[in-house]
Amino acid sequence: MNLQLDGHTQLLCLLGHPVSHSISPKMHNESFSKLGLNMAYLAFDITPDNLKTALLGLKAQNFVGCNLTMPLKTAVLPMLDELSQAARLSQSVNTIVNKDGRLIGHTTDGIGYMDSLLDQDFHVIGENMTILGAGGAATSIVTEAALQGVKKIYMMKRKNKTFQEAVDFAAKITQETSCQVIVLDQNDHDALRSAIEDSRLLTNATNVGMEDDKNSLVPPEFLRKDLLVSDIIYHPEMTTLLKDAKAANARYMNGKYMLLFQGAASFRLWTGYDMPVDYIKETCFS
Ligand code: NAP
Repeated sequence: MNLQLDGHTQLLCLLGHPVSHSISPKMHNESFSKLGLNMAYLAFDITPDNLKTALLGLKAQNFVGCNLTMPLKTAVLPMLDELSQAARLSQSVNTIVNKDGRLIGHTTDGIGYMDSLLDQDFHVIGENMTILGAGGAATSIVTEAALQGVKKIYMMKRKNKTFQEAVDFAAKITQETSCQVIVLDQNDHDALRSAIEDSRLLTNATNVGMEDDKNSLVPPEFLRKDLLVSDIIYHPEMTTLLKDAKAANARYMNGKYMLLFQGAASFRLWTGYDMPVDYIKETCFS
């Protein structure tokens, strides 16, 4: 990487807590360096309590924009001047663009996910999908999948106190797009089996399978050869769900390129340029 910083260098950053482990600074700075853009991307540890002050400071020095990660993606909503359609529908913002002092909120998690599917030749437009979970990542993915033309989405969610929120979200997406979104109880195995049977793609967007968790929410016998299986977790690279998919001779992918392509979508919003993704795969993801 060869960043040449000077008095004209423009600032971008990641805000969140924690942020020190993030790959985003490397990914964006490698891209600026490769394309010869006079920009720099830093990571700032910011909590919801000091987010407003942080944004005022960034605005005062005319920053280009920023990414937001946990726990700021919804906390930031009232601090923005405008929201993209996907950010409004998913009520989640991971990217801010500073447009002449107006802060525009976008969500690129869903775009990143859909682009990562295409990158692996997973084609789902006009098809049905089943997604496990209804948290921040799941709602961003469902929103973008619906906007891009996935036909029907089964959201499998635990029947707890946030179940009705998921049902309301599904109703909103069904009303505002041409996609039908149905929320079902994750523990109802007959419903899960039928949803997967009716789907081209199965996506895990829960925390189940992360780090040392060897669990999978899907019995291996529900998987089949012509099902596309995706886990948005990337630590570990192979979750139990993906191992089961491999054993069933299904095509599968983990979440590392979702991370890459959400960054690429933010990069495009800020700079107007395409991120050099092949170069970033080599330098940051191999
Ligand atoms: P989140 O908002 O906290 O949502 C977590 C979801 O997982 C919720 O729907 C939750 O269910 C469900 N869940 C958690 N534990 C469960 C369990 N034991 N059984 C069933 N469901 C369970 O988190 P998030 O931001 O959406 O992130 C979810 C996962 O995606 C994390 O592993 C994260 O690392 C990963 N992720 C990857 C990327 C990427 O770029 N690849 C981006 C974002 C997130 P309830 O709704 O019932 O609480």
